[in-house]
Amino acid sequence: MQRICVFCGSSPGARPEYGEAARQLGEALAERHLGLVYGGASVGIMGQLARTVLDAGGEVIGVIPEALATREIALTALPDLRIVGSMHERKALMVELADGFIALPGGLGTLDELFEVLTWAQLGLHHKPCGLLNTCAYYDGLIRFLDHGVEQSFVHECYRSVLRVDSSPEGLLDQFADYRVPEVDKAAWVQRMNGSR
Ligand code: AMP
Repeated sequence: MQRICVFCGSSPGARPEYGEAARQLGEALAERHLGLVYGGASVGIMGQLARTVLDAGGEVIGVIPEALATREIALTALPDLRIVGSMHERKALMVELADGFIALPGGLGTLDELFEVLTWAQLGLHHKPCGLLNTCAYYDGLIRFLDHGVEQSFVHECYRSVLRVDSSPEGLLDQFADYRVPEVDKAAWVQRMNGSR
C-alpha cells in the first residue's frame, strides 16, 4: 500500500477528540510512509489531518472540485492540489490514487464518499480495504444499522466484512495490512435471496 484516502468532516465536530483522532491518523500515516489522499480543504478535521501529515514530512494529495475550492477553502499550502471539474471526478480520482479508504467522523459528504467506495467494492470495481475510525463511538449507530441490514438479508455479510472498524488508527492500519479480498459466492447469495421471496 502506498496511499490511503481519508474521508472526514469539513467541520471540527462537537468534541476535541475528533480533531485529535485526525492528528493521530495523520501521524500514523506518516510513520508508515503512507501518503494521504483527501478532499483538499483547509477546514474542519480535513485540514487538521492534512496539516499533520505535511508537518510530519509525508505525502499529501488534495483533490477538490473547482466549485468547492473557495467555499471549503482549499489548503493552498499543498504541494499537490488537484482541481477537478465535479464531485464525480473528485471521487473517481481519489479512488484511483488510493490503495485503501478510511472514514473519520464526518457528515453527509463523508457518508456519501464512504458508501460509494463500499458499493464499488461490492460491484468488484476495486478490491481495496475500507475502514471506519470509530472515534468516541461516533459510528456505533451506523455499525448497528449495517448489522441490521445483514440480519434482514439486504446486505451480504461478505460485503459487510469489507468495512473494517477500529477505534485507533494503528489498529485500523494493521487490519488493512492483513486485508484479504472477501470471496463471495454470488450464486448462493442470489439463490438465498430468491428463496426468501
Ligand atoms: P462533510 O462530511 O459533509 O463535512 O463533508 C466532507 C467532504 O465531503 C467535503 O469535502 C465535502 O465537499 C464532501 N462532500 C459533500 N457532499 C458530497 C457529495 N454529495 N459527494 C461527494 N463529496 C461530498
